[in-house]
Amino acid sequence: MHKEDLDSYDDDERLEGESVSCPALIFQTSGMPDNGVDLEGEVLFSDLGIESDERFDLDGAKVHFRLHLSAAKMDVIAMGELHASAEALCDRCAEFAPLNLETDDVLHTFKNGLGQPIDLTEGIREDILLTFPQSFHCSEDCKGLCPVCGQNLNKGQCSCEVQSDGDEGGDDPWSVLDGLKFK
Ligand SMILES: [Zn+2]
Ligand SMILES: [Zn+2]
Repeated sequence: MHKEDLDSYDDDERLEGESVSCPALIFQTSGMPDNGVDLEGEVLFSDLGIESDERFDLDGAKVHFRLHLSAAKMDVIAMGELHASAEALCDRCAEFAPLNLETDDVLHTFKNGLGQPIDLTEGIREDILLTFPQSFHCSEDCKGLCPVCGQNLNKGQCSCEVQSDGDEGGDDPWSVLDGLKFK
């Protein structure tokens, strides 16, 4: 199931790279109580091998995890949720703004894992990568940039002419033709 999700995350280069192992996400399951064990903590994105790029600023950002490990016969099942706060570039105004990532779909099974240390690094890495948005806006009503001068219109109106409806724009060639007809 997670494999399919991953494949649908098409050609994002974030999924490429060497496998990583984060000590904070390796858990001992020997002696695990019958009702399982709850785990909570945080790891850096860089611990997961996920680095900042031109769209996402992940420097110093952490992924918080709340997981429940349980045993099913000899298998170990890890399920739970993740959340993270980072910064992302707004697609409209090109400013960085807070980005919240979360998922409660963490579900990984370790076949015959009971009694062994299990490493959730790769699973958590995939799960949090799937929460990255394809597009991002700093706010729903971000006004974006002026197409003429590039001014960030969230910070104030520029002095460029407001785009006309076509009726009174002096630069509109059709308005010149309109004028000629009446001569
Ligand atoms: Zn914006
Ligand atoms: Zn402008």
